[in-house]
Amino acid sequence: MLDAVIVGAGFAGMYMLHRLRGLGLTARVFEAGTGVGGTWYWNRYPGARCDVESMDYSYSFSEELQQEWRWTERYSAQPEILRYANHVADRFDLRRDIQFGTRVTAAIWDERAGTWTVGTDRGDSVPARFCIMATGCLSDAQVPAFPGRDSFAGRSFHTGRWPHEPVDFTGRRVAVIGTGSSAIQSIPLIARQAAHVFVFQRTPNYSMPAHNAPLDPEYERSVKGRYAEFRRQARESRVGFVTERSGDSAMTVPDEAREREYETRWNRGGLGFSAAYTDLLTSREANDTAARFFREKIRAIVRDPAVADLLCPKDYPLGTKRLCVDTDYYATFNRDSVTLIDVRKDPIEAITPTGVRVAGVEYAVDDIVFATGFDAMTGALLDIDIRGRADRRLAVEWTGGPRTYLGLAIAGFPNLFAITGPGSPSVLSNMIVSIEQHVDWIADCMAYLRAHRLATIEATSAAQEAWVQHVNEVGHTTLYPLAPSWYMGANIPGKPRVFMPYIGGVGLYRQKCDEVAAKGYEGFALGA
Ligand SMILES: Cc1cc2nc3c(=O)[nH]c(=O)nc-3n(C[C@H](O)[C@H](O)[C@H](O)COP(=O)(O)OP(=O)(O)OC[C@H]3O[C@@H](n4cnc5c(N)ncnc54)[C@H](O)[C@@H]3O)c2cc1C
Repeated sequence: MLDAVIVGAGFAGMYMLHRLRGLGLTARVFEAGTGVGGTWYWNRYPGARCDVESMDYSYSFSEELQQEWRWTERYSAQPEILRYANHVADRFDLRRDIQFGTRVTAAIWDERAGTWTVGTDRGDSVPARFCIMATGCLSDAQVPAFPGRDSFAGRSFHTGRWPHEPVDFTGRRVAVIGTGSSAIQSIPLIARQAAHVFVFQRTPNYSMPAHNAPLDPEYERSVKGRYAEFRRQARESRVGFVTERSGDSAMTVPDEAREREYETRWNRGGLGFSAAYTDLLTSREANDTAARFFREKIRAIVRDPAVADLLCPKDYPLGTKRLCVDTDYYATFNRDSVTLIDVRKDPIEAITPTGVRVAGVEYAVDDIVFATGFDAMTGALLDIDIRGRADRRLAVEWTGGPRTYLGLAIAGFPNLFAITGPGSPSVLSNMIVSIEQHVDWIADCMAYLRAHRLATIEATSAAQEAWVQHVNEVGHTTLYPLAPSWYMGANIPGKPRVFMPYIGGVGLYRQKCDEVAAKGYEGFALGA
């Protein structure tokens, strides 16, 4: 019998396998795709790129790996990250325990045997002592149920399920539906090829310039010379990478100083903007100063005032939907060949065989790109029929929204772990840092159980309820719940509106998890 089944071979599943092997435990990974890399295997759309800097967005568990691998750009593009994932799989000989092209459909706890039975779409039925969900927070691609969605006769793509061959848009009329991060990255590149791009926008996003560039060799040398310390700081930081964080309130500094600070951060580019002042994510008034700055930037870049106005976010605070990072996004709307269509006022009526219809107007296109995102954080878990003690179904347990202990474990589901599950910092962080933390915690926990001859570990309901309450409380001290975001489940009709990630900060959260372990797994019931 296997010690563990791991579901998913993205960065989480790969490292989990490596750690378990290091403990001498047996594991099999099931992966729906035909290769490793998860997000970076599926999201091959033009412009797909990391918005955390390359020297930060990489594994830290092997000094040799982090020294030998060379990133070429400040922000890595998808093909390079996928090469990196493949390099890791080869270097640590991971593939022999990964079954590709296999989707896990069920995980059922067998009370008598004290094991999980994991079923797949290929007919596998595999017993294992532990089941570890490395299924990804942003892996369950969604297309809204537009009337006529399947009637379109041209080519259609989802950014999160992009073909493996390059897609040529030369001379074509293309609809891009959605204006989240994937759209913001891909629209400038699609517009360079296409005859015309129609962008269907429901909610405008705040996007920072990336100022991407080849990686400065001097910077690379300096980080590699102190990588251990660089990683330590990242682990103890709020978001999993170190960014210059001011201790001031935006409301206590003079206006000119504040504008200068915003300008400096805009010119630096990337995600560090929200760290400009301590209260940007807690005070609406403070946030308004930053949001105003953004709107002025958009109006300065986009020549047509009506288009600029439509691109300006106005009804939710900056940073409460994931800040985007772009190259030439706003300037792309200065092209005559790009048209922005507001589908907030008049939602998409229908997809027709030849295009997209809004307010009685049909936009005829050859191709549709759905940049419509994911059923975030819970979608991939709930796609699996997961049943714990007494046949309790996860889908039923989570009817009112996800409930976990530490985002790692679920009461009633012994020996089941979720890597970067809801209730952990996950999507609010540099995710590789959060992944490594969870994997290490789970591996250490399994080693502890073995050393103490314990067979099961299970979150108690009391600890879970206290954690859920804490996650909620902390979330509601911020402005985050004000935005109808995928953090809140708002992009999926009928999904409960719960702020799913834990905003307490990566460093504090790690301490909390370590304390739980140090106290003999406080809040868990351990069984012989
Ligand atoms: C376009 C995009 C850009 C991103 N940019 C950043 C960024 O800049 N910085 C950052 O920190 N994070 C970013 N992320 C988040 C990214 O998902 C994580 O950084 C990281 O790659 C997640 O790794 P993972 O292994 O947890 O999940 P994933 O990479 O999503 O891997 C999960 C794997 O599980 C498989 N799987 C799921 N369900 C099943 C099943 N039932 N059976 C079998 N296999 C299954 C999937 O096929 C997938 O391969 C981005 C995400 C997207 C979509």
